[in-house]
Amino acid sequence: MPELPEVETYVRRLRAPLVGRTITRVTVKWPRHIAIPSPRQFSQRIRGQRIETIGRRGKYLVFELSAGALLIHLKMSGDLAVAPDGTTRDKHAHTVFHLDNQHEFRFSDTRKFGRVYLVTRPEEVTGRLGPEPLAAGFTARRFGERLAAHSRALKPLLLDQTFMAGVGNIYADEALHLAGLHPLRKSDTLCSDEVRRLWQSIRRALRSGIRHGGASIDRVYRGGEFQNEFRVYQREGEPCPNCGTRIRRIMIGQRSTHFCSRCQRDH
Ligand SMILES: [Zn+2]
Repeated sequence: MPELPEVETYVRRLRAPLVGRTITRVTVKWPRHIAIPSPRQFSQRIRGQRIETIGRRGKYLVFELSAGALLIHLKMSGDLAVAPDGTTRDKHAHTVFHLDNQHEFRFSDTRKFGRVYLVTRPEEVTGRLGPEPLAAGFTARRFGERLAAHSRALKPLLLDQTFMAGVGNIYADEALHLAGLHPLRKSDTLCSDEVRRLWQSIRRALRSGIRHGGASIDRVYRGGEFQNEFRVYQREGEPCPNCGTRIRRIMIGQRSTHFCSRCQRDH
């Protein structure tokens, strides 16, 4: 599933071809792609809207329109592309936005879990999300307060989008290894040095992901190179880059979790 760095990479690539363009109409081939409003209302309201800016909140792409906002969540397998009219579309291009310059903005989605929202304000969709880990206001102190307010294992807490937005399985495992913290460590047991280390590690992992254009870990997200930088993620049985111990994989809350039992002790 695309996480913050992969979504951010899409946002940066889509700005040049899309900002300033007007959506003339939309083709909806899989109506359940449209979460809000009804597919029929969506098709009516999107016509004639100009794309003013493209940003990101958590794992959502946020398009500010001349009236309202369009949000896209890629979920498991979403892919976004801009291509000239008439060129061959991927057969999974379920939602296609026609633009005023003989191009199309295509949302392809093999597994069909992705969703599209057209709302007055983005917060109608993103209102429950936790803070952005790369935002200037997201200080180590604020992070520490949030950790202390829960007594939950670190790994599932980092994946909880209401705790913090944008981190998924890859960047949680990478950040915990960088910080030398066991994924099952309880969030309210960290000392202030550990809090700071985890805060720095999350930001470092995410920034590295963005710098490498995200991670291409499946057929779907093909953009980036961050998979070549993985320290533990999907490296079960390989040596830890710090100490050489074999990387272990365990299941935590039905998610694969990769870690080094020597560098990330459970205490
Ligand atoms: Zn190690």
